[in-house]
Amino acid sequence: MIVTKRIAAVVVAVGLAVTGLAGTASAAPAATTDLRLIAFNDFHGNLQPPAGSSGRVTLPNGTTVDAGGAAYLAAHVTRLRGQAPNSLVLAAGDNIGASPLTSALFHDEPTVEFMNKIGTDASVIGNHEWDEGYAELLRVQFGGCHPTDGCQFHQPYRGAKFPFLGANITFDNGLPAVLPVTVKFVDGIPVGIIGVTLEDLPSVVTPEVVKGFKFGDEVQALNRTSRLLDLAGIRTQVALVHQGDSTEGGGPDDCRTLPGPARQIATAASPSIDAFFTGHSHQQYNCVVTDPAGKPRPLIQGASFGRLLSVIDLKIDRKTRDVVRTATVAHNEVVTRTIAPDAGVQALVDEAVTKAGPIANRQVGTITADLVRAAAPSGESPLGDVIADAQLAATQSNQAQIAITNPGGIRTDLTYASSPAGEGNGVVTYGEAFAVQPFGNIMQTITLTGAQLKTVLEQQWQPQPNGTTITRFLQVSASLKYSWSQSGTQGNRVSGITVNGQPVDPAGSYRVSVNNFLAAGGDGFTELAKGTNLAGGPVDLDAFAAYLTAHPNLAPPASDRVTVTP
Ligand SMILES: [Zn+2]
Repeated sequence: MIVTKRIAAVVVAVGLAVTGLAGTASAAPAATTDLRLIAFNDFHGNLQPPAGSSGRVTLPNGTTVDAGGAAYLAAHVTRLRGQAPNSLVLAAGDNIGASPLTSALFHDEPTVEFMNKIGTDASVIGNHEWDEGYAELLRVQFGGCHPTDGCQFHQPYRGAKFPFLGANITFDNGLPAVLPVTVKFVDGIPVGIIGVTLEDLPSVVTPEVVKGFKFGDEVQALNRTSRLLDLAGIRTQVALVHQGDSTEGGGPDDCRTLPGPARQIATAASPSIDAFFTGHSHQQYNCVVTDPAGKPRPLIQGASFGRLLSVIDLKIDRKTRDVVRTATVAHNEVVTRTIAPDAGVQALVDEAVTKAGPIANRQVGTITADLVRAAAPSGESPLGDVIADAQLAATQSNQAQIAITNPGGIRTDLTYASSPAGEGNGVVTYGEAFAVQPFGNIMQTITLTGAQLKTVLEQQWQPQPNGTTITRFLQVSASLKYSWSQSGTQGNRVSGITVNGQPVDPAGSYRVSVNNFLAAGGDGFTELAKGTNLAGGPVDLDAFAAYLTAHPNLAPPASDRVTVTP
């Protein structure tokens, strides 16, 4: 409720300020004011430069450039600010959550401190800001120590110096649960920043954390809040939307997007809104859409992990205090690593890396031999078996009967030998478990028919346009067994499917646990996206760590779930 009062105070204050401005507008020396908006999205706590493909940006000619890292991002923000008389730094959500160990171990407090350091003015709440529920989000916002882990990074944790916005997030009774909008004054002109998160947020977090809350229609919330700004005389309005489209490829400023929710929102929402920063889909695009009044406005997203900064340059008419739309220029700036890193942010990152060391070495389980991800000819791997079993165990409350996981989500082997950290042979540390399952995917349980389950297994063979076939072998829990034929044809390779020893009935219903990536049809498993009765579960790493703790001296399982026939 404190939050709601703050909203009222902001709106009243803005109303007064606008009244004051109206009397002096005619004396303004320049006709327009320039405002540069600098935004990033889906940073996911990537304080250190992200590795592999997560740390590269694809350019229009198909080549890639190394990008990302908090200290480089900060240096680029300083440079971009230096080129403009006025600037605001904004974030389109998922700044925290599903983070690397360096940030995740400290409940992402170092990432919030980083955002404070670069002068972030506002962020929308992404689904990952809500991963651990409302109380934790309020702690991240206002400060204080974690209720169970305490203050492990800085004592005390002081909170975010910028508001987390969510105009479509209400309590069940309809009252706002968080601040819907914030207003910044730029050269005396009020700029309204509205945040909306994806309406589908409840489908990508665990059910307990959304109990008592409603996540409403994005366009309706934008329109409702935009009208409030209209009434207060705030003509320059910017939307931070944690929802995004997919692209067909191209460089950071390409606009070949597939029809998606972000474009739908940016096209339909109130014509008073002048620009849309989006996120969630981790894509790079820079588009111009037409508002309901026929005027152009930018729609942009900057990939993820701090690899791009989305820059929108607005010209604001000082008389009308509104944006001259035809003069808007937008681009995505690559966060290259050839610039000198920001020293202050680098010191913060170094401190997080140093402090993470001892915590990462906490023991979560023991194993009797290497658990490797390399697969047998059947496609089955010992580590894949263990992870699928762990995911099944962690989703028992969803009545899960089987679990299926994607090999791409298993990033490294779990080795028996002691790591350089010296924890001892056979000991699995939290850091080692994290290295295996680093994505912070959320478990989901869906209902499939037996026929759909067969289709999913047949989709492990994926014909390519060039005539070849790629195989992506899913890893399955011990409760699922099947055979596949080397001589089988597309759609006819899999047979003898059993669940808990019983032959699968094509018309029967089966509860299947997968991570949210697979549930969305990832890696070509489109049949999984047709599942029904979706229920959320824990983060995959938590499921894995809990299983290791519950099964000490874990041995590699026998490879007997998948059988190959000639
Ligand atoms: Zn998201």
